[in-house]
Amino acid sequence: CGIVGYIGPRQAQEVLISGLAKLEYRGYDSAGIAIHDGAQIDVKKKAGKLENLNTLLDGQPMSGSLGIGHTRWATHGLPNDTNAHPHATEDGRIVIIHNGIIENYLTLKEGLQGRGHEFKSETDSEVLAHLIEEAYAGNLEEAVRAALAQVRGAYGIVVTHVDHREIVAARTVSPLVMGVGEGEMFLASDVPALLAYTRNMVFLHDGDMVVLNDDGFRVMDLAGNPQQRTIEHIEWDA
Ligand code: GLU
Repeated sequence: CGIVGYIGPRQAQEVLISGLAKLEYRGYDSAGIAIHDGAQIDVKKKAGKLENLNTLLDGQPMSGSLGIGHTRWATHGLPNDTNAHPHATEDGRIVIIHNGIIENYLTLKEGLQGRGHEFKSETDSEVLAHLIEEAYAGNLEEAVRAALAQVRGAYGIVVTHVDHREIVAARTVSPLVMGVGEGEMFLASDVPALLAYTRNMVFLHDGDMVVLNDDGFRVMDLAGNPQQRTIEHIEWDA
């Protein structure tokens, strides 16, 4: 339902939580964030209101300047802690969040299980983490592209890998917007999540994939062809 991503010098937790709060009006049943601290990616997620996640974080704040966050509106699997996003691979090295529906997830899941993958959640989304893991050979962007070539449906997907200081994202049908800062980059499913941080935005087109790092971004289509996207200045307030 709601997506926020951050890479830059700030503590990511603050950016993610404040961004997700701005997307609460859309409705959701659970919330979670993942933060890359340079050595590992930690995930914290909780069913119910963002308040529940905040309570969890109050006790143990997460440190790190690269992160992704999600508010979920369940379509596949109960609204509980386990089914909340982000979803990680078994080794915790790849972490994803997903908006939308993967229509052929059951076939993909059975194939992955047959090849030894163990699933934690009942969501359609979790297949994405496993597909990316299977395709990964050192280049995250290529692995995401190979995984997405196998899925049908609607998605806004955001991916992190422990070995990379970058965020890879892609969209089909589900919206995604990038915020372009100075030495920092943002990502969200909707503009209000980012207005407190930047007004320079890039609206991703249907079928766009993007790689974000501290210094900027690259957009390509799902086949890997580079795309030009203009930065727009948002004048209005949410
Ligand atoms: N289909 C996914 C799920 O049920 C994502 C739902 C959403 O867009 O929030 O977990």
